Amino acid sequence: MRTRLGSLPGCLSVLEWSTGMTNRKHRYKPILPEVQAVATAHQEAGPEAALEVVRALQSLPQGLTTEVLTDAARALKVPAHRTYGLATFYSLISLQPQEHTLRVCDGPVCWLKHARRDPLAGVAEAAPPGWTVTRNSCLGLCDHAPAALADDVQLAPLTAPEAAAAARPRDLSAAYRQPRPGEVRAILADIDRIDPESLDSARAAGVYEGLQRALTMTPEAVRAEVTAAGLQGRGGAGFPTGRKWDFVAAAAGEPKYIICNADESEPLIFKDRVLMDTNPHLLLEGMAVAGYACGASEGWIYIRGEYEAQAQRLERAIAQAKEAGLLGPRVLGSAFSFEIHVHRGAGAYICGEETALIESLEGKRGEPRLRPPYPPQYGFRGQPTAVNNVETLAAAAVILRRGAEGWRALSSYETPGTKLYMVLGAVKSPGLFEAPFGLTLRQIVEDFGGGLADGAVFKFALCGGAAGTIVDDSLLDVPIDFASAREGISLGAGAFLIADQNVSAVAFLRELLHFFAVESCGKCTPCRVGTYRAHQILERMAAGQGCPSDWDELHALAANLRDTSFCGLGQSVAIPMLSAMTHFADEFRQAAGL
Ligand code: SF4
Repeated sequence: MRTRLGSLPGCLSVLEWSTGMTNRKHRYKPILPEVQAVATAHQEAGPEAALEVVRALQSLPQGLTTEVLTDAARALKVPAHRTYGLATFYSLISLQPQEHTLRVCDGPVCWLKHARRDPLAGVAEAAPPGWTVTRNSCLGLCDHAPAALADDVQLAPLTAPEAAAAARPRDLSAAYRQPRPGEVRAILADIDRIDPESLDSARAAGVYEGLQRALTMTPEAVRAEVTAAGLQGRGGAGFPTGRKWDFVAAAAGEPKYIICNADESEPLIFKDRVLMDTNPHLLLEGMAVAGYACGASEGWIYIRGEYEAQAQRLERAIAQAKEAGLLGPRVLGSAFSFEIHVHRGAGAYICGEETALIESLEGKRGEPRLRPPYPPQYGFRGQPTAVNNVETLAAAAVILRRGAEGWRALSSYETPGTKLYMVLGAVKSPGLFEAPFGLTLRQIVEDFGGGLADGAVFKFALCGGAAGTIVDDSLLDVPIDFASAREGISLGAGAFLIADQNVSAVAFLRELLHFFAVESCGKCTPCRVGTYRAHQILERMAAGQGCPSDWDELHALAANLRDTSFCGLGQSVAIPMLSAMTHFADEFRQAAGL
């Protein structure tokens, strides 16, 4: 749960913060010059820059004290609760001054890699002097587990905590430049010959040809092409992309915005990181195509704060594209102008939910909005906004280059085109690959994962992502697509974690619930309390201290989460809970003492 009232700074009371008394108390005191300097550097964005300002201020020697946060609020002309609310919401922000931080991933893949023990065990003792060691929810480095973040540097695998101070960024996606046997590549096509730092190499591989073609068409024709290709959102929900763009184009209000959701914070998912690592210009092209199709002139990439290397790569790519006339005013000599900005998150899974993302982009806590209205009608700054996933936008660029028919020709399966998949856990070759829809779990394991790891016997798979179904071997041969969740096996964002005979389904579910409880934004009671309570019960059960009422209580909590949570985060927690308890009823009942 993200609201930590117990850790109010200094001697301020809840009353003082909630009533804005701090503002009155400090009204006539000059704003700290170091705070004013940071706020002034961001003044163009106004209150929208609050998150960036608070994040920058935590590097002050005194940390985020009451005085710093209050002065930041005054400088930004927002209430004091706003800056304090930000400082206590995002996991990459700490109230205490910290010279260096080693964030150890405690996602389910890393938990398995740590032989199902506490991922922090032994790390604090081994970390260099001056380093604070903390837990972090999944870092998006599952293919290099066990993972950590040494300040901003992705450190994976984490084999030597003592070397954190010497960690340097390295290419974490090199392994994917060459396709695996059986892959069908369209989104990842040619990444073996693209230097991600070179616009020329991207253009030589055909990137921006889709944008070039789009600009010869009408916006309506571009949207029709994407609809004809049958593109559905790749973030997990599978909403038809062309239809979403139609809504934005038809909505009243100017300006319109394109937001790329690069928050990718769900455990098991790292595909967008690989895409941004290997072909950043393809994403920029897809955003420009979307902007043209929707009538938008501005785009934002909301990238998770843990992806600093990828954010910097995108910023360099944007600068190159602007210089070449592919972004900015009058794109490629046309009447269409389009700017792209990169915005870093600060550590919050909920910011992958589109309305929470928009709140965060506006400089607020990432708490979901009530829907309707939906972002295509009322999105960023209250304007019509298309929010699309990284892979979706990259696919749109490819569709415009190949044409709808060329995209459909990639596969004979009823769901057209290709998808990025991730296979993890007890397989010989974990990692990422691209293939058509309709693969079965058996194909994913055998044909693309290299088969089960030596000595491993398949016990269950977590399908889709952390909020997906947990299935046993009865569903190994079901073709997986956006509709297969009805048969009990979900596609989600395309990740599949294989667990062997040594993994307890109860302990595994406990790990997932730990994640959801930590990442619940706290806005609504069913999720805030329900995830916490379910985690407590599973912790007891996994420790051999279950009681007979646990079985019924877990079911009741799951139903309550599903039916009454405010947003998709809480609602979807029921999916792994109920599927695990269905497929492994004996194990759960035994743990409950039934
Ligand atoms: Fe926040 Fe409620 Fe959504 Fe959970 S379900 S993330 S508490 S709004």
